[in-house]
Amino acid sequence: MSDLAVELTAPNGVKYTQPIGLFINNEWVRSKKGEKFASINPTDESEIVSVYAADPEDVDDAVAAARKAFKDPSWRDMSTTDRADLMFKLASLIEEHKETLATIETWDNGKPYTVARDEDLGEVIGCFKYYAGWADKVHGQVIDTSPAKLAYTIREPLGVCGQIIPWNYPLAMAAWKLGPALCCGNTVVLKAAEQTPLSILYFANLVKEAGFPPGVVNILNGHGRVAGHAIASHLGIDKIAFTGSTATGREIMKTAAINLKNITLETGGKSPLLVFDDADLDQAVKWAHIGIMSNMGQICTATSRVLVQEGVYEKFVETFKAQVKTTSKVGDPFADDTFQGPQVTRAQYDRILSYIETGKSEGATLVAGGTAHKNVGAGKGFFIEPTVFTNVTDDMKIYRDEIFGPFVVISSFKTEEEALERANDTTYGLGSAVFTRDITRGHRVARRIEAGMVWINSSNDSDIHVPFGGVKMSGVGRELGEAGLDAYTNKKAVHVNLGTIL
Ligand code: NAD
Repeated sequence: MSDLAVELTAPNGVKYTQPIGLFINNEWVRSKKGEKFASINPTDESEIVSVYAADPEDVDDAVAAARKAFKDPSWRDMSTTDRADLMFKLASLIEEHKETLATIETWDNGKPYTVARDEDLGEVIGCFKYYAGWADKVHGQVIDTSPAKLAYTIREPLGVCGQIIPWNYPLAMAAWKLGPALCCGNTVVLKAAEQTPLSILYFANLVKEAGFPPGVVNILNGHGRVAGHAIASHLGIDKIAFTGSTATGREIMKTAAINLKNITLETGGKSPLLVFDDADLDQAVKWAHIGIMSNMGQICTATSRVLVQEGVYEKFVETFKAQVKTTSKVGDPFADDTFQGPQVTRAQYDRILSYIETGKSEGATLVAGGTAHKNVGAGKGFFIEPTVFTNVTDDMKIYRDEIFGPFVVISSFKTEEEALERANDTTYGLGSAVFTRDITRGHRVARRIEAGMVWINSSNDSDIHVPFGGVKMSGVGRELGEAGLDAYTNKKAVHVNLGTIL
């Protein structure tokens, strides 16, 4: 075996071959400068393996391969049925390798294995199948203007797409971006997050095995400020799709202006969850818990700001605390009964612990958690007790900032008007949730909340068939659903003169 792959045995005993190179033109290569970085197991802080980091020259190679593939008849003129078949093939290969992919995701990211296997991988497979189904249905329109003109539109791929993904759902974020890009006939240079570089490399081999022509999908690891920046600023790239922090999204938007790239951004949030007096309280508590505590709170749409009407506030807080106690079992992510694994990195862990100190010094009441959790293995790893603050006011940093951890703030409100005012008092607008048995109120509040998504009587049960995205500083454009196709196609207008004689 070359030094571009390593035999590994994961903590659950799964043995597999881990690629560590850059995947360009369906080949594994070293980065030109040979620089590598280590991927760390967040459960015990050990190094798993080092992978090659792309530099701008490597990005140039990947873009050249993607451009060549975009123009090559084997991809450009492939029948849409054949393109769908390739994507279905990829979906079934992922299914075949599901356990290994979930193992790598858990090892590298820290999310519970059962969640990685059943939820994340289920979504990845579903997403490729869904967009495979669209591949032969991306149609233009005939526009009837007058008997002297036939006008129609063609939906064309954008070209070479740069895709920059985060670490919280590595494979799912790749699928959300690759699915629509490929079904519309684009080619891709994708960069994974440096915190979780491993599963996407294993996935790259499946792309080749499925039969995608060389250069259609290129996968790089590398640092955001180096490889990410080289993608965002590259003159050979036509589109950027990004998921991550608002600060980085804003920087990418500026950088991508260099050649007016088409952009889609999914960024941060501080999503509100409103519980009215008439809600089914037991359900509100259970969904509110899922909405902030699943995936270690590392979800862009996490409903991290809970606003409860005063009549049920005390009861909600007590029941929520009990739910955290009975459900949020912190532990080894490979153990079947673990609900919450470690945070992804020391940086995220330190950041959350520092917000806990901020909450205390701002005068909020800590009613649960508030410390690191040291009872897993030898006491290492980035584990944090699920944390709940009450008596939170709207000016506090813990109420306003995206924290991205198992950390929730709960506050009370009197009227619907006040709840809406406060829910919307944020620079973000990604997710939101409302709990009420009053169907009219549910829809009324849904219309007035400034967010890309509203859940009525649930939280965070997103769905690949439904558009996903934000307003305000939570993003630009939509992914998933039919709307996801708009982000990867241009509408070309063709005017045919049927009788205007000059
Ligand atoms: P980040 O936004 O900096 O990184 C996300 C991706 O962008 C990574 O692939 C990274 O390499 C790349 N990147 C970073 N700087 C870049 C640049 N200048 N040009 C191009 N690409 C660049 O996120 P982070 O630092 O890992 O996390 C910080 C915070 O971001 C978290 O605490 C959380 O609040 C938020 N976050 C949000 C999401 C989400 O799903 N919306 C995901 C991850 C993190």
